[in-house]
Amino acid sequence: MHYTAYRPRPFRKEEREKVTILFGGLTWKHERLVQGALHNLNYKAEPLPNVSRTDLDVGKELIDVGACCPTIFTTGNLISFLKSKVQDHGRDYVVDRYAFLTAGACGPCRFGQYHESYTMALDGLGLRDFRLFLLDQNQLDQGPANGGGLEINLPFTAGIIWAILCGDLLTDLEYMTRPYEVHPGETERVLRDSVEYLYEVFRDRPIKGKKWRVLAWHLLSDYFTGALRRVKKMWEAIEVDRLQPKPKVKITGEFWLQTHEGDGNYNIKRWLEQEGAEIIPPPIAVWLDYLLRSNIQKLEDKRVIDKRAGRKVALVRTLQRVYRGTYNRLRRALGNLPYELPDQDELRRLAAPYFHNRLAGGEGDMLVGKALYAYHHKKAHMICELSPYSCMPNTMSIGAMANVLGQYPDLLYAPIEIKGDAEVHALSRCQMILTEAKRRAQQEFDEALMKTGLTVEAIRRYEERHPELRMATYRVPHRGFAGTATNYVLHIAERMGKI
Ligand code: SF4
Repeated sequence: MHYTAYRPRPFRKEEREKVTILFGGLTWKHERLVQGALHNLNYKAEPLPNVSRTDLDVGKELIDVGACCPTIFTTGNLISFLKSKVQDHGRDYVVDRYAFLTAGACGPCRFGQYHESYTMALDGLGLRDFRLFLLDQNQLDQGPANGGGLEINLPFTAGIIWAILCGDLLTDLEYMTRPYEVHPGETERVLRDSVEYLYEVFRDRPIKGKKWRVLAWHLLSDYFTGALRRVKKMWEAIEVDRLQPKPKVKITGEFWLQTHEGDGNYNIKRWLEQEGAEIIPPPIAVWLDYLLRSNIQKLEDKRVIDKRAGRKVALVRTLQRVYRGTYNRLRRALGNLPYELPDQDELRRLAAPYFHNRLAGGEGDMLVGKALYAYHHKKAHMICELSPYSCMPNTMSIGAMANVLGQYPDLLYAPIEIKGDAEVHALSRCQMILTEAKRRAQQEFDEALMKTGLTVEAIRRYEERHPELRMATYRVPHRGFAGTATNYVLHIAERMGKI
């Protein structure tokens, strides 16, 4: 039989009320906000259940053996869900009542072929007529999909992007607060309340008009900043104790693996926290910024042969400034607590001696750039890079990092290969590097106390007179050290006039 590319059956407008659009691949926070944005447009939408270890086995049975582990996990995740629904309601119900929306692109790695893996698995299940739709990450306005039931237009895409940005900001708040919370479980509770509140904010977006008017409203109105200011108030109630020297671990790695929170990456973020670390989570916003940078690079290369390319470079640079400005505006509404986006030109410059910026696929040169950025700016004690089994781009960046480590032997770097079934090995490897990161965090803290002549007891007495210092929303400025506790001691010393 000849190969025929998958083409979804039409999804007609009149079907909208009965078809649930499935999606996934992000954290539960991002997914809930994306759901709000889709409900706002009157779609029935539901995130898939979080990926579990058994999804890996389900995926392995149905797709090609050389697939990278994120592809196997996410395919298995979709298939497990569909199988359970077929069991409950029958095959015809599932193909009529569900459709799946996934991000995709054209590129050298498997990300460009995810949908092929999904269709292979659907064939295996006898569900070829189940509908899969591709959200092209390079096109904000794709117009109506086949049949007009799904319109990937600006209200749709802007809702998803703003939901992702807000999900990132909340995730930053979560990871910088939980390790220091005084009352266990409080961060989780406030986080859940914040996500539910923001879900309603997205569901009730008062958008009017089409296309550019909608985009302008997202960019200029204070609808989202006002909501985030209210979220900040909610976080004020959490009491923290920052006088605990903890190693700061920056998570990098392949897009899906670093974003995911669960079995798909051995729950490594939670595990690191339980081992006494503070995590810097990887925002999806950096990836969107990287896409803009990649477009600029391509246009810059064309300048020699196309005079108009120069104007286009200027246009995309302006777009990038608007994008970063929007992120900063949302950060400001949260008191500038979430981390700023790293400058893409700096990431490119830092990575350049080790990794060519035109080697696309996966995170490209960003893995090297991010590690060096954290090292030079003293943002983290250690990098934990999550590398999927059978991922070509990540294998290349790990190779390049060997060269980086030759030049910066004191950069603490733990590349963890994730393949779903070697958890003990991966975590023990991470623990070895973490032990040194802990020693460094303690050492810089002790030195800060010595330098300032302060003691923990003296700072505690000062905190009693200034209770705002123990609020989760109190911003501790970066004073040139990776550790939160060290920066806190130096900041208190400044306030007390000791330095
Ligand atoms: S970057 Fe690697 S793990 Fe991710 S989709 Fe591409 S090949 Fe797979």
